[in-house]
Amino acid sequence: LRAQEQKHIQELIEQSKSATFTDSKLFSELPISKKTLAGLSSAKYVETTPIQSEAIPLALANKDVMGAAKTGSGKTLAFIIPVLEKLYKNNWSRMDGLGALILSPTRELALQIFEVLCKIGKKHSFSAGLVIGGKNVSEERERVSKMNILVATPGRLLQHLDQSPDFNMLNLQILVIDEADRILDMGFEKTVNAIIENLPVERQTLLFSATQNKSVKNLARLSLKQPEYVDVYDPE
Ligand code: ADP
Ligand code: MG
Repeated sequence: LRAQEQKHIQELIEQSKSATFTDSKLFSELPISKKTLAGLSSAKYVETTPIQSEAIPLALANKDVMGAAKTGSGKTLAFIIPVLEKLYKNNWSRMDGLGALILSPTRELALQIFEVLCKIGKKHSFSAGLVIGGKNVSEERERVSKMNILVATPGRLLQHLDQSPDFNMLNLQILVIDEADRILDMGFEKTVNAIIENLPVERQTLLFSATQNKSVKNLARLSLKQPEYVDVYDPE
């Protein structure tokens, strides 16, 4: 079974290399794992939205992506799927520590992302946690250092970086900055920059935003490497 899974992973890696899947309108046509597909279909997701069909293949091909699309266009799956696939293809296991970090501006939005992550990722064996404050830091600290995927608000994450000796991000494979415009509007620019300084340079980064402005572009310049831009035009 293990050998079969390794073969599946090798096939996915080969298929992902050429990001020529932009015409895919079905999740089942994307080069993604059976585990992720099972999560998607049990949540009744069948067809991709435009931001998903454009951003996911690029992300699967290991590109940095800056994605802009209005609220409600399906940006969450556009990064949840690449996060799961990245760790899966890298044979990530519980012992490998933190592999993916998803930053979100508010506790409510972080919780929503976490719920989608758990639903779509339920066939995978990664550990995942929320870092959004509200509980005391030492209680959170215990669990935080054991997680493979964290969904976090920037302030609370930086607090753990500063105060939790067992917590580091040295192995991080993929960073997601969701709702970058709101993160910046809320005054988290310095916090996000401080977090990025603690991340390995060799990583993939996906940045999503409903709107683009000067400060979003500035953050993109600081966090992304030769990004692909995906801007889904909204005819309304
Ligand atoms: P955004 O982050 O762009 O505001 P969300 O990721 O929160 O958008 O998605 C908005 C809504 O659309 C959610 O209720 C989600 O379940 C639904 N949705 C997302 N992708 C799909 C899809 N491919 N098929 C059907 N519904 C989807
Ligand atoms: Mg969103």
